[in-house]
Amino acid sequence: MEVEQVLKGLMWKHSAEPEFLQAVKEVLISIHDVYNQHPEFEKAKIIERLVEPERVIMFRVPWTDDQGEVHVNTGYRVQFNSAIGPYKGGLRFHPSVTLSIMKFLGFEQTFKNALTTLPMGGAKGGADFSIRGRSDAEVMRFCQSFVQELYHYIGPDEDVPAGDIGVGGREIGYLFGEYKKLTHQFQGVLTGKGMEWGGSILRPEATGFGALYFVNQMLQTHDIDIKGKTVAVSGFGNVAWGAVKKATQLGAKVITISGPDGYIYDPEGICGEKNDYMLELRASGEDICEPYAEQFKSAQFFAGKKPWEQKADIYLTCATQNELDGNDADRILASHPVCVAEVSNMGCTAEAVEKFVKAHQLFAPGKAVNAGGVATSGLEMTQNSMRLHWSAQEVDDKLHYIMHSIHEQCVKYGTMPDGYIDYVRGANVAGFMKVANAMMAQGI
Ligand code: GLU
Repeated sequence: MEVEQVLKGLMWKHSAEPEFLQAVKEVLISIHDVYNQHPEFEKAKIIERLVEPERVIMFRVPWTDDQGEVHVNTGYRVQFNSAIGPYKGGLRFHPSVTLSIMKFLGFEQTFKNALTTLPMGGAKGGADFSIRGRSDAEVMRFCQSFVQELYHYIGPDEDVPAGDIGVGGREIGYLFGEYKKLTHQFQGVLTGKGMEWGGSILRPEATGFGALYFVNQMLQTHDIDIKGKTVAVSGFGNVAWGAVKKATQLGAKVITISGPDGYIYDPEGICGEKNDYMLELRASGEDICEPYAEQFKSAQFFAGKKPWEQKADIYLTCATQNELDGNDADRILASHPVCVAEVSNMGCTAEAVEKFVKAHQLFAPGKAVNAGGVATSGLEMTQNSMRLHWSAQEVDDKLHYIMHSIHEQCVKYGTMPDGYIDYVRGANVAGFMKVANAMMAQGI
């Protein structure tokens, strides 16, 4: 019963943090039964401790633009839980960043990282800064200012940030360069580094590749072949790019991608140079879909719309949180798709998730599906500690193994008496049990 009480208290305390509440609520509802079977968890106030970040760091990030004008942004690092390893999780640079978003992402990361089988705690950070329209020099000065404060709180055995929305290889390079200058040490303090200076092969592709390995496993478990299936993808960044690439390699056909200006529908399939063009447009900081449609004649541009209105066999959210809502879920369910999976963190609203699960739709949550990104970050940390560099084959084999094992954990904890695999429940319970047991072992 304690779960309900905690939830009530949280709704009051965190009413100004809707995304954080949404993420917490989903986990607490999933773990309710299991929690009640463990009175020792209640005694140790595991839930109250789990929903409170161990530490929140907020700081000023002043920087100067190319015209000499001074700007000030807010920087964050939420070190959520270190029960199973050093804090680990990405940095997001986006104007929408708030404390609520940082906390929801750090909370999700804790369970996601637990699912990966690797020893990594959960954290998230970032700033309300937009890289769009900013020159290279401006992005560099921003990253340097950001690290001048953050470096006090991170380290290879303490907290290892990585990328997320708005933070790719270029930003990681600038962040790493400044950290090295400040500490005089070349350490594996960030992941997503360049291949020449400690990065792991396949890290850029890992989130998208891992997601497709997971989705393929979901389909195989239900005796469905991915070959020939149509896939609606949202987003235009690294994650969407990797997902499109692997979906195509597995024999599926990706028919949509989306950007801030709308979405692209291409019945001939988005693959090869068409897929790579997405990253080129992203790097230019311009709109994505309209220029894309001008480049490729088979592509149609739908301004201001979401790709979920197209009929597809598989739907993959690859952009951001809450990008697929209850109405989208209704439309998708009416078309009887094969599978829906969140590749972005909390890509579906609570209402949409509830609809999918209630309808017994084959559906999986972001913390399981997209865990290949952070898992490969974990493999990068291992390579850095060993001062070794693994081949693409070695990393890919390990990624396969990890995604397979996450799927197994979801099946173990999520299979319902009627045979439906509730992947949401499975991922939440599996992640929770691992973190809760570690917290119990380490005392109050
Ligand atoms: N930002 C990614 C995530 O949401 C990757 C984090 C990492 O590699 O540390 O999991």
